[in-house]
Amino acid sequence: MSLDDLYREMIMEHYKNPLNRGELSPPSVSVKLSNPMCGDKITLDLLVADGKVTDVTWGGQGCSISQASASMMSEAVKGKSVDEALTLIAEFQGMMHGKEPADIGDLVAFKGVAKFPVRIKCALLPWEALQKGLSEKNREGR
Ligand code: ZN
Repeated sequence: MSLDDLYREMIMEHYKNPLNRGELSPPSVSVKLSNPMCGDKITLDLLVADGKVTDVTWGGQGCSISQASASMMSEAVKGKSVDEALTLIAEFQGMMHGKEPADIGDLVAFKGVAKFPVRIKCALLPWEALQKGLSEKNREGR
């Protein structure tokens, strides 16, 4: 099995069995975003306390790439500090624009998506929601 096949399989696995789907009541911040190019929609709920992302859930519908990206993003940032989450956002965005990522674990599965410009927005959507949520949370003070 090639690395591309392995990554594709990881993405399909998360699409079929997504992690952290649901909603928080109440979240610290909730962000709704959509990608009109593809029809992907996401609602991201974050619980942020003491500079940490203590819980992450998401809902919405979309293509396999956007759904798998939301699943893996939520798993990757849950329990991380806000600063670590911001670093991950930057690494992931860089990778989607062709940069070699640092060690970002399973998220490297999306590296191949960078070759398909139409799909890049799908993969980035949950990360954009995360970025927006953290900056809104930051503005109101931690
Ligand atoms: Zn999509």
